[in-house]
Amino acid sequence: MAKKRNGQNNDEEVFCSFCGSPATGNKVFIPAADGNSYICEDCVTTIQDALKGFKEAHGIAGPGSVQTKAPDLRKVPKPKEIFEFLNTYVIGQESAKRYLSVAVYNHYKRLAQNTADDVDIEKSNIIMVGPTGTGKTLLAKTIARLLDVPFTIVDATVLTEAGYVGEDIESLLTRLLQAADYDVDKAQRGIVFIDEIDKIARKGDNPSITRDVSGEGVQQGLLKLLEGSVVNVPPQGGRKHPEQRMIPVDTKNILFICGGAFDGIERKIAQRLNSHVVGYSNKARKGIDRDNFLQYVAPQDLKSFGLIPEIIGRLPVLTHLEPLDRDALRRVLTEPKNAIVRQYEKLFRMDNVELTFSPDALDLIVDKAIEYKLGARGLRSIVETIMMDAMFETPSTDKKTFKVDAAYAIRKLEEANFEINRN
Ligand code: ADP
Repeated sequence: MAKKRNGQNNDEEVFCSFCGSPATGNKVFIPAADGNSYICEDCVTTIQDALKGFKEAHGIAGPGSVQTKAPDLRKVPKPKEIFEFLNTYVIGQESAKRYLSVAVYNHYKRLAQNTADDVDIEKSNIIMVGPTGTGKTLLAKTIARLLDVPFTIVDATVLTEAGYVGEDIESLLTRLLQAADYDVDKAQRGIVFIDEIDKIARKGDNPSITRDVSGEGVQQGLLKLLEGSVVNVPPQGGRKHPEQRMIPVDTKNILFICGGAFDGIERKIAQRLNSHVVGYSNKARKGIDRDNFLQYVAPQDLKSFGLIPEIIGRLPVLTHLEPLDRDALRRVLTEPKNAIVRQYEKLFRMDNVELTFSPDALDLIVDKAIEYKLGARGLRSIVETIMMDAMFETPSTDKKTFKVDAAYAIRKLEEANFEINRN
C-alpha cells in the first residue's frame, strides 16, 4: 500500500493508498487510524457514491441520510437501570444522575417516536452546573459507555466565531465523526459533551454592541447545532477553507451534554432567592440551604451569568453537581468500578504482587487532596507520587505483597517534595 515515502511527516511525501496520487495543492487527504496511510478526497467521493448506490439498491439508509434507525424501546435501558449503571462508576451526584437517566431515556423515546402524529417530542439536551472535578465529564463518559454510541468531549474555549482565530464551531462535529470512524449515520446518533460552556458566556449583562468573538458569537453558532440542523462539517476539523469538501451531518438526533463550573453563579442564585422571598414569610427564607445554593440553579441564573436565552432554551434539562466532601472523596478512591486504588492493584497484580492500602493511608490521601484543594482530580496524582518508587522497584524483586500505610505514604510524599511542588 502506498503511504509516506520515508516515514517522515511531510505533506509532499503523502500518497493516497487507493489511487496512488501524491498530496499536492489543496487536495484533502484523510489519514487512517494508523496515521501511516491516507485516502484522497477523490477516492472518498468515489467510495461514497458507490456506497450510496449500493445502499439505495438494497434499501438501506445511506451516509448523510437524516433517517437514523429507530431504536427498539424494549431493549433500551430504563431510567432506573441507567441510574444504577451510573452508580457503579460515579459517587454521589444523585440529582444529576436522575436527570441524566431520564433525559437519555427520553432521547431514545424521541428516536423511536412515531412522526406521523402531531406531537413531536423535542430534544432533551442537558446542561450540568457544578464545580470542576466533581464528575461532570465522568457522568457523560459513563453514559456513552452504557449506550455504546460515538462520544466526544470538546472544550468550548477553543471555539470561536467563523472568521476568527480558533476552531470553527462545526469542528466539534468533526471530533464526533472521528469517534464514529467517519460513519455519518452512527455519528448522527452520538453524544457530544461540551465542556466549559460557561467560558463562552457573554461578558457583562448587556447584549454586546461590539463583537464578542469568543462569547456571544460562539453561542449563536452553537445554537444551530443544538436545535438540530444539517451542518457541513470539515472532515479534518480546524478552519474551513473554500476548497475543502464538507460532510453534511444532521444534528437532529445528536445529544448535547454541556458542563461548566459557572464560578460565582451561587451569588446570582442567592440574589434571586433573596429578592424572591422578600414579602413572603420568614419561613420561605428559612427553608433555603445557604451552604449549597447550586441546588436551586434555574434557567434565569444561567441568563444572568451570560448565556443567551436561545441557548438556555435549547438546553432544557438543567441539573447541578455537589462539591465532593471528605466522605465522597474517600469513596471515589475505592468504590467505583474504575477506582484509582483498583487500578493500582491491577498494575501490581500483573507482576503477581498483591497491593494493599491500609485505611489510614487512604484517609491520608484524602486529607492531602483536601489540604491542597485538589479535589477528586488530585487523588490520582497523590497516589501516583506515593506509588512511584514501588512501581520502579517491585518488578525487579520477588516480593509477593506490598502494603502501603500512612507512614509509608507520608515518607514518599515528603521525598518527592509533593508539598513544595504543590505550593
Ligand atoms: P469535571 O468534568 O466535573 O471537571 P471530571 O468528571 O473530569 O470532573 O472528574 C475528574 C476525575 O475525578 C474523574 O476522572 C474521576 O476520577 C474523579 N471523579 C470526580 N468526580 C467523581 C465522582 N463523583 N465519582 C467518582 N469519581 C469522580
